[in-house]
Amino acid sequence: MATAKSPAQSPAQSPAQSLVKLFPTLVYQGLIAARLQTRLNKELLNDTAKLESFDTEGRRWSKKNYKGGYTSYSSIDTLHKQFSAFETLEKQITPHVRRFAAAQHWDLAGKSLHMTTCWTSRMPKHVYHPLHIHPLAVVSGTYYVNVPKGTSALKIEDPRLAYMMAAPARKASAPESLHPYVHLAPKTGRFYLFESWLRHEVPPNQADGDRVSVSFNYEWA
Ligand code: FE
Repeated sequence: MATAKSPAQSPAQSPAQSLVKLFPTLVYQGLIAARLQTRLNKELLNDTAKLESFDTEGRRWSKKNYKGGYTSYSSIDTLHKQFSAFETLEKQITPHVRRFAAAQHWDLAGKSLHMTTCWTSRMPKHVYHPLHIHPLAVVSGTYYVNVPKGTSALKIEDPRLAYMMAAPARKASAPESLHPYVHLAPKTGRFYLFESWLRHEVPPNQADGDRVSVSFNYEWA
């Protein structure tokens, strides 16, 4: 007796049909070596506190645009050229950026990717960072210096979302990679690299402690 194909059966379950996944959005997750992490994070934390104490312009900007928190984003954004701990971080991250570029199969035409901006951010409880991209850069990323338990994730938006005019919503049970937003868990010592056009945000920090991170941009030159 012939069996009718269940309508719920996906093409991938049939030997004659298959699903082809196209246009992946690559995000690189890395970890700074444990032997370096403790000292490096201590220095980055100290430097962030020092910066916040003397960076009047940054504090003023943060009061308006980063309510309740502090970021040197608009005031001192070349920390990797000014402070040794941030320079160490750059040296650690750059080889991973090269690997990320290789995974993308980018033809850099004899040029390379360089860290051009680097800034620090301290997010106490309830502080958030709305959806944004990093204009003028190729690769962006964030390194987590201090991650209190239960703090907010790095929330990434599906770059095709604006095209999905009549697309049905995904079931809650769908694999995470198929959801319109994916939450990447921060962890002390971890970093993420992504293409700078990829929209992302940090929802309000629900944890009691400060969420401290260092973000950066790489340009192609
Ligand atoms: Fe960002």
